Amino acid sequence: MSRVYNFSAGPAALPEAVLKQAQEEMMDWHGSGMSVMEMSHRGKDYMSIAAQAEADFREIMSIPDNYRVLFLQGGASSQFSMVPINLLQGKKSADYVLTGQWSKKAVAEGKRFCDVNVVSDTSDSKFTTVEDQSSWNTNPDAAYLHYTPNETIVGVEFPFVPETDVPLVADMSSNILSRSVDVSKYGVIYAGAQKNMGTAGLCVAIVREDLIGKADPAMPTMMDYKTHADNDSMYNTPPTYSWYIAGLVFQWIKSQGGIAGIEAINKRKAEKLYAAIDASDFYSNPVDVPCRSRMNVPFLLANTELDGLFLEEAAKAGLSTLKGHRSVGGMRASIYNAMPEEGVDALIAFMQDFEKRHG
Ligand SMILES: *Cc1c(COP(=O)(O)O)cnc(C)c1O
Repeated sequence: MSRVYNFSAGPAALPEAVLKQAQEEMMDWHGSGMSVMEMSHRGKDYMSIAAQAEADFREIMSIPDNYRVLFLQGGASSQFSMVPINLLQGKKSADYVLTGQWSKKAVAEGKRFCDVNVVSDTSDSKFTTVEDQSSWNTNPDAAYLHYTPNETIVGVEFPFVPETDVPLVADMSSNILSRSVDVSKYGVIYAGAQKNMGTAGLCVAIVREDLIGKADPAMPTMMDYKTHADNDSMYNTPPTYSWYIAGLVFQWIKSQGGIAGIEAINKRKAEKLYAAIDASDFYSNPVDVPCRSRMNVPFLLANTELDGLFLEEAAKAGLSTLKGHRSVGGMRASIYNAMPEEGVDALIAFMQDFEKRHG
């Protein structure tokens, strides 16, 4: 068996310790005689797995008691509609920050439900920056303010948390659990699990209690946060195995010193990779320095004719899935929590060697 360093943007690498534990527990979970995949979600074994995962998640993110944690399906993309359905609460308009491809999708979906007021639009910069909040054109009567703290495709991450008097909503799909977050500043935080929390099929939403129960009653039952809150995310069959894997990831984070421990490693990994890019004329990253993502690091080769060879040789060196998003080109190294620092070191060494041979 030989495993590669997997720089995929998502579904992404999982901690090896998590995969090994899942392997050990695959055929017989804790003497139950069955796999977690085969368990009734209403049985005592699975209920304990689900409850432990939520408790660990609450602990590592320091989630206050007046927030509910919902384990949902439909991906972050379903939250693009669940957020307006639940948070408009009779209002006609909501504020959105447009900083990249994912916030663009959130805006497009929001428009199906309300007047979307785009408070800041950085498309002119090809989404390589975040505008200072003082220049935003916010509406004090907005139902909520939606933003994307980390834009996965271009690699732009907010260096600040927006200040607002309306409920703040964040799509943290690609940077949840990577750095400390003051949950009390938010109305809703949501994230698909497949980048930094586990496997595809699960989406976690952290929702302030007072925002639950005021969804448009004409909307489908499954789109109402209250349905899931009232039933501990078991109104229907939840994505049981993905929920279990997320639980293993939460335990692994605890073993790494919690979010503080992980954040320090993430900071070091990103800093050394950007330093290597900046030190060379062969590679470049177009993102404004204060807004560079710690999780997704796109970089371009000065000579794009070498892109194919770079990917081919990188793959031979055990560095996988470095091709950039088709809308950006070049390369993208996604270095989520599960990417060990040695993987980043190996990438940097490969980049320097490639430049020596082809620069
Ligand atoms: C990947 C991603 C999404 C889409 O997530 P799905 O779970 O596939 O719906 C949304 N927002 C961000 C920031 C992402 O990185």
